[in-house]
Amino acid sequence: MSDIIRLLPDSVANQIAAGEVIQRPASVIKELVENSVDAGASDIKIIIKDAGKTLIQVIDNGIGMSETDVRMAFERHATSKIRNADDLFSLSTMGFRGEALPSICAISEVEVRTRPEGEQMGTRLVILGSKVTVQEPCVCDKGTSISVRKIFFNVPARRKFLKSDTVELSNIMREFERLALVNNNVRMHIDTGVRNLDLRTASLRIRIEDIWKNTLKSDHLIPVDVDTSLVRIEGFVSRPEFARRRNPLQYLIVNGRNMRHPYFHKAIMSCYDSLIASDTMPCYFIRFSVDPSTIDVNIHPTKNEVKFEYEQQIWPILVSAIKAALGKFSAVPSIDFSVDAIPLHPMREGDTMPAPHIEYRNDYNPFASAARATRVRVGSDWERLYDNFSGHSPSREPAAFTHAEADRAELSAGVSPEPEDDIFTLAGDHDADTPQVCIQYASKYIVTTTRDGLVVIDQHRAHVRILYEEYLARAERMEVVSQTVMFPETVSLDASQQAALGGITGELRRLGFSLEYDSDTTWRITAVPALPKGTRASDVIMRILDSIAEDSVNYGKEGNVGDAIAGRVALVMARAAAIRGGQRLSVTEMEGIVSSLFVLPDPSVTPDGNMVYTVLDESRIARLLT
Ligand code: ADP
Ligand code: MG
Repeated sequence: MSDIIRLLPDSVANQIAAGEVIQRPASVIKELVENSVDAGASDIKIIIKDAGKTLIQVIDNGIGMSETDVRMAFERHATSKIRNADDLFSLSTMGFRGEALPSICAISEVEVRTRPEGEQMGTRLVILGSKVTVQEPCVCDKGTSISVRKIFFNVPARRKFLKSDTVELSNIMREFERLALVNNNVRMHIDTGVRNLDLRTASLRIRIEDIWKNTLKSDHLIPVDVDTSLVRIEGFVSRPEFARRRNPLQYLIVNGRNMRHPYFHKAIMSCYDSLIASDTMPCYFIRFSVDPSTIDVNIHPTKNEVKFEYEQQIWPILVSAIKAALGKFSAVPSIDFSVDAIPLHPMREGDTMPAPHIEYRNDYNPFASAARATRVRVGSDWERLYDNFSGHSPSREPAAFTHAEADRAELSAGVSPEPEDDIFTLAGDHDADTPQVCIQYASKYIVTTTRDGLVVIDQHRAHVRILYEEYLARAERMEVVSQTVMFPETVSLDASQQAALGGITGELRRLGFSLEYDSDTTWRITAVPALPKGTRASDVIMRILDSIAEDSVNYGKEGNVGDAIAGRVALVMARAAAIRGGQRLSVTEMEGIVSSLFVLPDPSVTPDGNMVYTVLDESRIARLLT
């Protein structure tokens, strides 16, 4: 077999930002198994000792590597999978960055045995901390076996960061499940010492059953299948009656790759809106197949986020397909779904597409609808909202719709009205012509009336609450725009801050911040998101690191670290940008704040736990007057 590995040209190497590929044992498994899949393996075995801290071994029966190739494979940006930047847009392999093997061998002891088909002898390579210490011919099976020992042995901060064996093992099993789900045509075997799972090759449905046989039955699932020239969507969603209160199994697979995609997640959830209790969630296993040139998977080093070019056109296809499936299997008798609404031809930018017509039986709640429409509007005007508050002249359109406008927008947007009981109702919300009355008191408080009483709102806290939500929503929708800075600021960090930073650089990047190691204890901030006026990126970073240090108790625990970091960034930025006490506000500005505040899920407290407003109801006022 001929040598097939090439070095990427520098230009491409730079285009592909070096990243945090390996965070924990589970990431090693992901990278090695994906390499095995790329090597055409039909059988992959994984052996784990001590939750991966002692050994992670992946054995495959793929194409193997020649003597020269295996040596080359551990060079940075060495890949056999792409040759130039254009290939990034027609990817058919899991790997392409040429980063995994060099990253793994930089932080562990690696032993490789590999033999291409047709060769007599294979090659054995031992690499200690990036140095090849042994290279010799060996007898081995066709394919490749890679053993990774003592992960992070030379990065004490990282090794310390590893969680208990239980947590790391559960991360490993979750990663294995994801890989097994995506590669149902590969036999997959894992032995962790605690669990031993051997999965035959099977259809997607059987694979799902085999993986989750203890928690999921196949009659819980409804097939979804739609094929258009823009996208093929297939898979399974759970019947509404099997929605779960905890740990729903939710998987999106895009061209054979497991992906997070908050936008499509929301699309799927919206199909269950009126079908399941609000504290439960459906399971879903949805596969998208699209032309690789219409997606970008190179937006994150771990390659688990994807950007679709035709996201907005795919939304209605996805929603119709799922509603059709739920309807067809008579899960939802009350929905009048229309399969005709599924476009069978690709739509391009600018095309419009009527949302499928769906009738809900819910009672119409005018406040909920106004609230939703307002929220949409404020979301898109987020920067302007606070830009204006930091200036003086509010010579602009009102930030909020009038209720009449909102209702019209609501109708034309086809948003489903649904009751939102936890929000109290604003006075006059049922009467489109009654304007909201807001007055400012002591340059600090906004006073307004509701059916429930007189509301006194702390203007600063209210604005912190609003901006916080907006920022988080943007991060979730991946709408954070990051800008490279010409003259990077630097921050100087002590060892624990560096360790903390190491664990969150991926998240920070998602939020628009890129940091590069400079020298010694110094890091350069090379890219930043749009920041509130007068806020320095280095301040934001330092405050985030401080807040991690303050409660490393909370941080280290289970739960989504990413969300925690996003929350911290959002809070720091919201605090910096929010209007202050002492600032005079126009009626329009006050109305903007009031209407944006009361559409939030919990408007009554700031993210850091301060009360945002108090309500003086009639009886309280009467008591004050006795
Ligand atoms: P990438 O997967 O992005 O190309 P890696 O660092 O993961 O980068 O791997 C580098 C190269 O090593 C791959 O392009 C491939 O040619 C080779 N390689 C890695 N693992 C295997 C394997 N299990 N079988 C055959 N070749 C492999
Ligand atoms: Mg790879």
